[in-house]
Parts: sequence; structure tokens; C-alpha cells
Amino acid sequence: METISNMPSEKQVQREYTSDEFNRLSGATIMMVDDEMITMEVVQAFLEDAGYEKFILIEDSTQAMKMMKDNAPDILLLDLVMPEVSGFDILEQVRADPKFKHMPVIILTSSSDGENKLRALDLGATDLLAKPVDPSELRLRVRNTLAAKAYSDRLAYYDPMTNLPNRRMFLEHFEWALDKAKRYKENLALLNIAIDNFDRINATMGLSAGDNIMRIMAERIEHIIRRTDVLGPSLGKEDPILKLFRIESGTFSLLLNRIENVENAAVAATRLLEAVREPLTLDGTDIYLTASIGIASYPAESEDSVALLRLASSARDYAKNTGGNSFQFSSIGINSMYRKRLSLESGLRKALEKDEFVLHYQPKFDFRTGAIKGVEALLRWKDVNNGLMPPGEFIPITEETGLIVPIGEWVLRTACHQLKKWNVAGKVPISMSVNLSVKQFQDPDLLKVVRDAIDESGVAPQYVTLELTESVLIDDIEKKIDTLRKIKDMGLQLSIDDFGTGYSSFSYLRKLPVDELKIDRSFITDLSESADSLAIVTSIIFLARSLRLITVAEGVETEVQSNMLKQAGCDQCQGFKFGRPVTALELTKQLSQHSEDNEI
Ligand code: C2E
Ligand code: MG
Ligand code: MG
Repeated sequence: METISNMPSEKQVQREYTSDEFNRLSGATIMMVDDEMITMEVVQAFLEDAGYEKFILIEDSTQAMKMMKDNAPDILLLDLVMPEVSGFDILEQVRADPKFKHMPVIILTSSSDGENKLRALDLGATDLLAKPVDPSELRLRVRNTLAAKAYSDRLAYYDPMTNLPNRRMFLEHFEWALDKAKRYKENLALLNIAIDNFDRINATMGLSAGDNIMRIMAERIEHIIRRTDVLGPSLGKEDPILKLFRIESGTFSLLLNRIENVENAAVAATRLLEAVREPLTLDGTDIYLTASIGIASYPAESEDSVALLRLASSARDYAKNTGGNSFQFSSIGINSMYRKRLSLESGLRKALEKDEFVLHYQPKFDFRTGAIKGVEALLRWKDVNNGLMPPGEFIPITEETGLIVPIGEWVLRTACHQLKKWNVAGKVPISMSVNLSVKQFQDPDLLKVVRDAIDESGVAPQYVTLELTESVLIDDIEKKIDTLRKIKDMGLQLSIDDFGTGYSSFSYLRKLPVDELKIDRSFITDLSESADSLAIVTSIIFLARSLRLITVAEGVETEVQSNMLKQAGCDQCQGFKFGRPVTALELTKQLSQHSEDNEI
């Protein structure tokens, strides 16, 4: 629980204001435009010594305005004499653009010509510096200019009580962010976050209590959005501070730039609601807060800034009017899509505990003898509301949420126990194939999980095959080969699933300690119509044989396909023609029947 004291906030604010200011200055983005790279590099080095970190150097002055729009720098250091577009031209354009009208521009010029300097000042230059620059002079001017800008910005753009950027800043920033999203075809989400019953807090505890609460909430929200896992890797790098705005006394606006999809906004909103709900103590009183969040997204819901603002706040009102403590997308379509996804996700979180998963088993046959060589374990979710759900509909969610790790462990253990029952003494043993997702493969406990499943069930490890897709092996291949070796050392078999669709080159296949290739169903499907598919399948089989790998054809549905594969020398087949995935009980029957009559 967080404890804050109510009153001496004036002073507190003052102190934070100063240190925040300092960070803002050294965190400023400094843009330089000069046709001599070396000059800019020298200036950058001087300024880096003074603690500045963000620089944008532009040698090609024709790019200056575009870069300015993309990066919205805090200050511009501008050369005057440049080919094509001169410093004067740029200065003129900067001052004509309402967004950059007040941006500080320091002219760096070697020209001793007084007339040029006057002209630059007339055009609105903030200050002038002679080249070659003197380092201490440079630092002083930059600092003073930034400080002056920060001061006037703060008056105009910040809420003095919470130090958060205000509504005015939000509106300008939103236009800018939207413009950028449009140009780069990125998604953007706007969250309107209102603390429920905030007016009542203000009325009963006083305005400064309200401000303190907003400050704490702002910290929590920023903490959440800073965590990269909420929004995906590309977002973590962005400076989140400016993305949260206090737009009314109890309301924040949050901008999520460059989100991969709207789903990320739902994930963020869920976490934000949790963060707001954490209790806090104010002047000895425990306070329990909730929030209502409205989400509008670009381009899914609107492309217009005014419409997006309206959509977000009316969605927020909807959330509030239906009891608060929830979030709402502004469009009905997106809403129901994400409600469904979220309910799937929460269902999946409980599914293991509630014992709702089952494995079905699909037999794999030997083309030559017709015998059942093994089975593949395929996961199904027996959800009360949705019936028996195939893995394609829920595995992606379990992968995103990491739930696949415990679920995959359950699959492996269950499959091994089942195999033990089938491979009783006296019968010809069969093998069990288990699919492994990328997330499981990256899990540091994978080897232990595999070993435990083998040991607990007592199966012979050579009858257990782990199936990996090529995507598992894309990067960091050496490390992965090491993991594969360790699995092999335990005695298991390895198979590459859906082979032919991924990135494997035949040359790297040689380096992998695998035993089997499963030729992707897409090639089998159009085997009889497409000469290309036949050529691919034939060469995969040929290659596999030269690397002493077993080939399995997946998704064999017809006699024609089966014959062609047999002809091409494929070792094993799996598909509806021979057997669909069935329950353990059903497969037990098939196994006993099959041992009497094993022709296919
Ligand atoms: P997969 O490993 O390639 O499994 C083969 C899929 O093809 C299965 O779909 C199977 O039912 C289907 N199939 C088999 N023969 C035929 C056929 O002749 N025609 C057609 N049209 N389809 C056929 P399923 O069970 O829906 O599984 C889909 C995918 O979900 C699997 O593809 C696998 O990638 C994944 N999956 C299934 N179980 C697990 C699991 O326990 N863990 C993980 N990580 N992934 C799993
Ligand atoms: Mg598979
Ligand atoms: Mg497959």
C-alpha cells in the first residue's frame, strides 16, 4: 500500500519541478542542420560532454523539414550557407509552421557578414553563434535557450500541481502523433482514463488531495506503460513521459504510439485498471479507487483527430455509466472481438486447473508395411461454453500469454503416461509425437520438464518425438542446436513439423540433430494438381534420405496422394485417409484391431 501525506505538496512540487526541469533539459532532442558533417559531430561531442544525449544530425538540408516533423526536436542548431535549401529558407519555413513557430533556433555561422546575421534575426532566429564554436559558449547558449523554452513551455503546457503535461500539450502532441502514424502507416490508440468518483474525493478531501492522488496515479500508469511487455518490444524504447496528460481534474489521456494491434491497447487498459485499484493511504485514510477507460484507435475506428477524441471520451462515459472499473473500445465490432478474446484468455488461465484439456491422438503409418508406427498428440480444449475447441483457435493466445509453457508441460506428461499404457510388454511399441511451441523451447526449464515427464511415466525415451516448427530455429541457431543436442542426449527423437514452409535451407538442416521431417500439408494437398508441389515433395524426400532422416507426409486425404507419396519413397504418412485424431480410448481400440490386420 502506498502512503502519501496530503499537504506540504507545494514545496514538494517545487523541488520536483526543478529536478524534473534538469532532466528535461539534458533529455532535450537537439537537431542540427549543416552541410558539413564534421562541424555537427564536433558540436555534438561538446554537447555530449555537457550531458545531452539526443541528437539528430542532418547533412542534407532538403530533409530538414521532414525530419523536424518526424522528430519534433526541442532546439534547432542551423547553418546558414548550404547548397539547395539554405538556413534562411529553413528558418522561414520553421516560423511559418504553427507547430514550430516558437521553437528555439540557434544559427551557427562562419559568416562574419553582419547583414546575414541581421537577416537571420529578422527571420526569427533565437540566437547566433560564430563558427568555429567555442565549447563553453555553445553549452551556455544551448542551456539558456532550452531553459527559457522549458520555462515558457511549463507555464503554457504543464499542470503545476502534478507536473503532468496539460490538455493544451495533449492536443498539440496528439495532432503530431496522429500525423506521424498516418505517414508511417502505424496504429495508434488513444486512452481516456477517468478516475471514478473523482469529484467526490475533491469535495470530501480537498483539491490538493485530488492532485496528490492524480500524481500517484500518473506514476503508476507511467510505470505500467514503461514495461515493454505490455506493449511489445518496439514501444519500450520510446519516451513514455510525454504520452500521459492530465486533461481534466480527474482525467488522463494516454497515447499509445506504434502499437502492433488494438489488442495491445486492451492489454494495457487491463493492467492500468489493476494498477489504479491498488489501495493507497492518504492522511491516514485508506482509499480504494477505480477507473473507467475509453479507447479509440487509429486507423481502425477513425482517422480524424476530433472524432477520435470524441470516441474515446464517449467510450469512457459508457464504461463509467455501466459501473466503472472497466474499459471500453469505442466501436462495437472491436469491442465484441476483444471481449471474446479476453474471455478466452481468462478461460484459458483456468483451464488447466479445471481439467478442461484433452489430448486426441492421430496415428502415423508406415508406407511400406502398413503398420502404425506411432501417434501424434493433438491438444483440444473442452470449454463448457464453446465445446471442443481445436488448437488453432487458442494456441496463439496461450503463446502470447506464456500459458503455453504450463499447458505444454501438461501435454507432454499426459502423452507420456498414455504412451506407457500403450507400450506394455509383449506388444510392438509405438512412438508418441508431441508438438513443442517456440515459447516452450525458449523456456529455461525445458530440459528438466522433458526429463521429468520421461522419468515419471517410465517410457523409453526413444519412443518420444518432439516436433518443432522451422520458426523455432530461425535465430540464435547455435544455442538452439545446443538445446536440441541435450534433448537428443536424453534419448528422445526430434522432428521438424510443417517442413517446407519456413526458412530452413537444406545446408543448415545438416547441422541440426533431427531425425524426422514432416512434409507440410500444403504440398500434399495439391500434389496431384501441381507439378511444383510434386517436385518439392520429391526433393524433400530425396534430401531427407541423403541426410538419413525419416519423412512423414502430413494431411494425406486421398488414394492418389497416398500412391504418389509411396512412389516418391516417403517413409510414413498421417492424414484423414488413414485416421483422424481420436480420443485415447478410441485409439486403444484401433491399436488392438490394427495388430490383427495391418494392411493399409
Ligand atoms: P500439426 O502439428 O501440424 O498437426 C497436424 C494438424 O493437421 C492437426 O490439426 C490435424 O488434425 C490436422 N490433420 C491431420 N491430418 C489431416 C488431413 O488429412 N487433412 C486435414 N485437413 N487436416 C489434417 P489440429 O489438431 O487442429 O492441430 C493444429 C496445430 O496445432 C498442430 O499442427 C500444431 O501445430 C498445433 N498443436 C496441436 N496440439 C498442440 C500441442 O499440444 N502443443 C502445441 N504447442 N501445439 C499444438
Ligand atoms: Mg505436429
Ligand atoms: Mg504439421
